Amino acid sequence: MILLKNVYLNGKEQDVLIEQNKISKIAGKIEAGSAEVIHCKGKAILPAFCNMHTHAAMMFLRGIGEDLPLFDWLEKEVWPREDRLTDETVYYISKFAMLEMIKTGTTTFLDMYFHISSTIDALKEMGMRAVVTYVGMDMFDEKETQRRLNLAHSFLDTDYDGGLLFKGLSPHAVYTASETIFKEFKKMCREQDLFLHTHVSETQKEVDDCLQKYGKRPVELLDSWGILDEKTVLAHAVHLNEHEIELVKKSGAIVAHNPASNLKLNSGLMPLQHFLDKGLKLTLGTDSVSSNNSLSMIDEMKIAALSAKRAANDSTAAKVQDVFDMATKNGFEALGLKAGQIKEGYLADFMLVDLNNFALLPNVNLISNMVYAADSSCITDVFCNGKCLMKNKYVPNEEQIIADFKRACKELL
Ligand SMILES: [Zn+2]
Repeated sequence: MILLKNVYLNGKEQDVLIEQNKISKIAGKIEAGSAEVIHCKGKAILPAFCNMHTHAAMMFLRGIGEDLPLFDWLEKEVWPREDRLTDETVYYISKFAMLEMIKTGTTTFLDMYFHISSTIDALKEMGMRAVVTYVGMDMFDEKETQRRLNLAHSFLDTDYDGGLLFKGLSPHAVYTASETIFKEFKKMCREQDLFLHTHVSETQKEVDDCLQKYGKRPVELLDSWGILDEKTVLAHAVHLNEHEIELVKKSGAIVAHNPASNLKLNSGLMPLQHFLDKGLKLTLGTDSVSSNNSLSMIDEMKIAALSAKRAANDSTAAKVQDVFDMATKNGFEALGLKAGQIKEGYLADFMLVDLNNFALLPNVNLISNMVYAADSSCITDVFCNGKCLMKNKYVPNEEQIIADFKRACKELL
């Protein structure tokens, strides 16, 4: 048991009791009993972030292939370098990515990549929670389709014994994965009640190419293949027409918004407020560092809010609480987890922030300060599933994680 003493919550100091992996009690004063007491005067408790779209192991590509359009960036800079990755390098890179996520207040993420047994090893050691999905990218080559399907089957058949691991499958996108990959992956996901994750309608070029090849827009195509439901996560979803918005809404599919990546690759401005008004399930993700270039959900919130105001040409668009919810509660809810809020009975996934950090002063509107003013320097402690991952800004073994990452990068670059 852990007792957070005098922590700022909902406008006043309170005590918060953590039992096992849950927040069990919140009250003005709770007797410590046998609980470990953490004195939190001057700190506020906030829900941890849930990053709904990333590729953790792409961390080694930070700063590489800058200032290019999406397709050039992928084909010339990203894919050739990714071919050099090994299980070992992915393990060290993933650990470093998770270090950055913990330091910036994230406990849970949705990852899409390959060499995933290494990502899972790293996940267990770092104590985070993730939906780790195997990526299917066959480039419409039948031999490769079969190879990817076999690898997906063997991933799902392997027992990884990770308490905070959820598996899933990711057809990469309609321009890199065949109908067979999409349909077979969805079938496997439905059989085991898993998430399917894909990039969709990221650029206007993707929409135009899809129309030319299939006579349908990407979301319409996914709908016609039976891919959309409440266990499908659509990353980007920037360019949707009204019919596609209706299809997403009706199916209950989840949208993972990646505003920094969309701006950096000039993929487009998502009409976020319009999607909010339509009642879509909206969550937030960073995408990989190679198109962001950080995994900080705090930064992502600010970019989401600012870009949505521009997209709507309306300063009242993307209100702070809506954006904060996208980064916290909406992501956890979408993943079926009772977390993302500081309430009794919820999973103990939270961060403590220093209320004397200059960005959080004056403390008139903490949520607004988090969205618009703060950076991760205000985060002092991070807990995931009741366990402390960062205490007083220190993550156990962080020097070694950084040294291993530097060595792996040297090998790859
Ligand atoms: Zn992505």
